[in-house]
Amino acid sequence: MSDYLIIGGGISGMLTARELVLSGARVRLLERQQLGRESSWAGGGILSPLYPWRYPEAVSIMADWGQTNYHQLASALALDTGIDPEWTQSGLLMLDAEERDEAVEWSVNFDTSLEYLQGSALHRCEQALADDVSEGLWMPEVAQVRNPRMMQALRADLEMRGVEISEQCEVTEILLNDSRTSVIGVDTPEGPMVANNIIVCGGAWSARLLDGLGLNLAIEPVRGQMLLYRAEPGLFSRIVLSQGHYLIPRRDGRVLVGSTVEHVGFDKSTTDQALTELQSAAVSTVPALSQYPVEQHWAGLRPGSPRGVPYVGTYPGVDGLYVNAGHYRNGVVLGLASARLLVDLATGRHPIIDPESFALDRDEA
Ligand SMILES: Cc1cc2nc3c(=O)[nH]c(=O)nc-3n(C[C@H](O)[C@H](O)[C@H](O)COP(=O)(O)OP(=O)(O)OC[C@H]3O[C@@H](n4cnc5c(N)ncnc54)[C@H](O)[C@@H]3O)c2cc1C
Repeated sequence: MSDYLIIGGGISGMLTARELVLSGARVRLLERQQLGRESSWAGGGILSPLYPWRYPEAVSIMADWGQTNYHQLASALALDTGIDPEWTQSGLLMLDAEERDEAVEWSVNFDTSLEYLQGSALHRCEQALADDVSEGLWMPEVAQVRNPRMMQALRADLEMRGVEISEQCEVTEILLNDSRTSVIGVDTPEGPMVANNIIVCGGAWSARLLDGLGLNLAIEPVRGQMLLYRAEPGLFSRIVLSQGHYLIPRRDGRVLVGSTVEHVGFDKSTTDQALTELQSAAVSTVPALSQYPVEQHWAGLRPGSPRGVPYVGTYPGVDGLYVNAGHYRNGVVLGLASARLLVDLATGRHPIIDPESFALDRDEA
């Protein structure tokens, strides 16, 4: 029997599995479809919250830990698995400078490079920008990973490390003892599985899984639609953010354009309205994109949570139950630290960051 059952094989579940197996535990990962095909596949892979000063400090603290350690993880995955997650320090250029004072204050607090650019300095930084763009904030340290490759590399790494992976395996219920004070296993369509420790990493579906256990975790799906342009390498090289829309240039020249923020339940369909909105944002930021075709259009469901702060920790009153979910728009950048924090708490290690802000029974007021 494994020491830990993890429910959900997105980036949260896979990074948690990796941390656990590195700590010496035996791990089984249960995924109702295929690993890494939901939000973690759909996302942009920007390794920074957008407008980070708009989030609670806890998000920046968690992101900061991940940013410091991501390059090392991506390099290790590339070396060990032969699959390169394409960690690239492209920098983030924000064409919204209205919040300059807040941004500068945040950058000083978090010791992050942030520069105000205008006029020719801005256009020298990124030559592909539209002529009418006049000012922006430049964060040169921000990096990105390529989500599908990150997912494939993590999967290969977990297989090499002996994590037992069960796909097409949906957990229908978390089973508790008679006094409802500790976990005893999970139920699946193939029958029950015994477990002493269960970690819920079910992304947007996490609250459903925990329904009826006592706490109401405020995790809800938030749809994000994304476009992929088949452009050419060298068209532009910075991640560019403008009025909530972003453009991410990948190494092979493809450009991701995102994203919508829609509260439409568990509906992953794409819409013509979003296609028009994202195309217009793309072309008004980098006009040369009008010459290239849109290759793909998809939607993913972010695990929305109050103010974007994930729930990471033990489930109060139920021994052996843990949650690592609710990373909203930042699960790729936050995933590394949240997995490490969860495993620190589960194994009794000193936590890398203060867990209080992420507790399941925290005060949301
Ligand atoms: C359009 C878009 C753009 C984004 N851009 C970025 C970005 O640039 N940077 C960033 O940091 N973040 C970004 N995000 C957010 C990020 O992708 C998510 O926060 C992150 O992927 C959440 O990971 P997760 O593993 O918790 O959830 P998911 O990836 O959704 O994984 C959850 C998994 O649990 C499985 N599951 C659910 N219920 C069960 C069950 N009962 N039994 C078994 N398995 C189950 C699901 O099938 C799924 O595979 C973006 C998201 C979207 C949609």
